Amino acid sequence: MSARLIQGKPVALEVESEVAQHVERLAVRGIQPGLTVIRVGFDPASEVYVRSKERKARDLGIRGIELHLPEDTSQEDLLDQIERLNADDEVDGILLQLPVPAHLDSDPLIRQIAPEKDVDGFHPSNVGKLHLGQHCLVPCTPAGAIRLIESTGEAIKGKNAVVVGRSNIVGKPVASLLLHRHATVTICHSRTADLAEVVRRADIVIAAVGQPLMIAGSWIKPGAIVIDVGINRVEASSEAASRLSEAKREKLAERGNVLVGDVDFPSASEVAGWITPVPGGVGPMTIAMLMKNTIQAAEERRL
Ligand code: NDP
Repeated sequence: MSARLIQGKPVALEVESEVAQHVERLAVRGIQPGLTVIRVGFDPASEVYVRSKERKARDLGIRGIELHLPEDTSQEDLLDQIERLNADDEVDGILLQLPVPAHLDSDPLIRQIAPEKDVDGFHPSNVGKLHLGQHCLVPCTPAGAIRLIESTGEAIKGKNAVVVGRSNIVGKPVASLLLHRHATVTICHSRTADLAEVVRRADIVIAAVGQPLMIAGSWIKPGAIVIDVGINRVEASSEAASRLSEAKREKLAERGNVLVGDVDFPSASEVAGWITPVPGGVGPMTIAMLMKNTIQAAEERRL
């Protein structure tokens, strides 16, 4: 491996220590920031995510509260609950854990969250401001990806950045953030012609696809910065299992499944200048940036 590794943990700890300093400053003024995470129903993955958000908030002195609602909660009830949290002065951040059960429509629910408390940055008001380059609450995973690039000390300005994936939660916002930092940005998706050729021109690659090991080392420009947002669980029976590195294969044999990114790490790390691992790259940044957004929301609303 010739690439330098961009580890998420130390950068996340840096963000968390900045958050802790802000929490202390707010405490002097008698303010404890509050984050409420709404979870509807019993999605097991959501339960794990919400627990870790709640725990991290508490560790940092933020009042982290989970509002767990039954599976059959109606759209109207949920809209009312959000309105109640909007009006609660002690609540600075509101996050609706996705996915919600199928009978609920998440778009109007997200629109119901007061934009100044929308710590996920998914409200159309924040999305629009991000697009316009205005100050706003920025989605956590894209903000975390940018912070990882910045941690390398390499410039973003003037670079060719290729974002693979155009989702509203990762691809589009990360492309906006890169553009505002003066990168020349290309956004790719499932209909992009000759994807490998496009990626080969990138000084910065952001992979946010959800396809295990899709981006091969032969697609990477020598010296490029590669940020792998993908989190894919590979099981022994899946096609990707045969393409795992030896280390991952050992883990697979031990545990029955293994987490990999969208980038074929062993081959890409031979060519890239910098690369994030999966797990341990972008993953730890998401919650750290959520805490940062909660502080931003608290300071902007209460100071
Ligand atoms: P989505 O499924 O919403 O979007 C995937 C995007 O990838 C789409 O734009 C799709 O194109 C594109 N795509 C799919 N297949 C291909 C292909 N073969 N070639 C080119 N483009 C393709 O995913 P998300 O953006 O929500 O998530 C992306 C990945 O990031 C997932 O692995 C997810 O688990 C992970 N993730 C990680 C987070 C973290 O904290 N680290 C947080 C959020 C997500 P099209 O639009 O044409 O369909």
